[in-house]
Amino acid sequence: MKKIAVLGSTGSIGTQTLEIVRTNGDIEVTALAAGNNISLLEEQIREFRPKLAAVWTEERAAELKSRVADLDVKIVSGMDGLLAVAAEPEARILVTAIVGMIGILPTIEGIKAGKDIALANKETLVTAGHIIMPLAERYRVSILPVDSEHSAIFQSLQGGQQKALHKILLTASGGPFRGRKREELQNIRPEDALKHPNWTMGRKITIDSSTMVNKGLEVIEAKWLFGVTVDQIQVVVQPQSIIHSMVEYEDGAVIAQLGTPDMKLPIQYALYYPERRYLPGERLDFGALTQITFEKPDMETFCGLKMAYEAGRQGGTLPTVFNAANELAVSLFLDRKIGYLQISEIIGACMEAHRNIPDPDVETILKTEQETYEFIKNRW
Ligand code: NDP
Repeated sequence: MKKIAVLGSTGSIGTQTLEIVRTNGDIEVTALAAGNNISLLEEQIREFRPKLAAVWTEERAAELKSRVADLDVKIVSGMDGLLAVAAEPEARILVTAIVGMIGILPTIEGIKAGKDIALANKETLVTAGHIIMPLAERYRVSILPVDSEHSAIFQSLQGGQQKALHKILLTASGGPFRGRKREELQNIRPEDALKHPNWTMGRKITIDSSTMVNKGLEVIEAKWLFGVTVDQIQVVVQPQSIIHSMVEYEDGAVIAQLGTPDMKLPIQYALYYPERRYLPGERLDFGALTQITFEKPDMETFCGLKMAYEAGRQGGTLPTVFNAANELAVSLFLDRKIGYLQISEIIGACMEAHRNIPDPDVETILKTEQETYEFIKNRW
């Protein structure tokens, strides 16, 4: 039986991962980790019976422990708890569905423990891809993309020759504000930006999709996953979210993966790779489908995407600054402390003020994250 551990089991990707486990019935869940939502985590523990579960704070861990005292499960907390879940001895696959750079250390721990990584936590690759990819190679583990675009690229590369890959065509819906100009985005409120036209996702990534910062993070993620330069990655706006991404080979052939917008497909593909399985749900109906349209991204209005290309091109600690500035700016926006356009202004100011450090180790990456937060807190 396939055995998995899940970091971020109570989130959007985490709960969909467990839905796939429930539907298929042939995967054992050995460990789960969540942040705060112990009510849902308790339900998950009762249903999936992991041996180990982690929550972030000690208080929540104590509360959870008393709630599940009737079960044979060990409850742990903090970063040590996340690391224990990542290295849980029986799991073969670690699903990284946690949000933010907090995923870096557990992902490294999982790789060192020999787990294949089903990677949703893009912030880890964006900031530490130069550490993660060689480490995975050294420990002979696979990094299986869960992000729908990267899964589409991965699927389009099956049976092809990766060395003949010429270009990646990374598709984007354009988000809820596609077609608007910068001045029209002045008064956007969190509730406006939280409405994605095609996908239902966690709060942070939904805001990132509206600013196209998410696409920028995906460009850097793709650079690491597929060993290309950011300039070999072209973002193509495809508002219907039917083509999930494409690859162009040296001979000009373009291969794409199409489907309805449902994250369960890429999650299931990562869990069972290379096997394909039946997946219940809506299918593409080419009889009813009227059009698939394409546009160029507007990198002036959605300047976060332009800044991501710059961060990805320069590498070093700059992608960490890009990512950390965005993380804090998005949370300030969600708390209504800054306006919508200030998200990209803050990212730009942080990148401009930063002196880039090439080839940073994990300590330097985490220090850069903290320094970026400090920089923002002192100014906004
Ligand atoms: P959510 O916000 O829905 O979920 C985040 C998860 O991380 C929750 O389970 C949360 O726990 C947990 N978490 C947060 N902080 C901690 C912590 N300190 N310790 C332990 N667990 C923690 O996010 P998503 O599922 O949307 O996204 C997860 C990752 O996947 C992100 O990197 C995102 O970019 C990526 N992704 C998401 C997609 C989507 O469709 N949602 C698509 C592609 C990629 P709790 O809620 O209990 O606090």
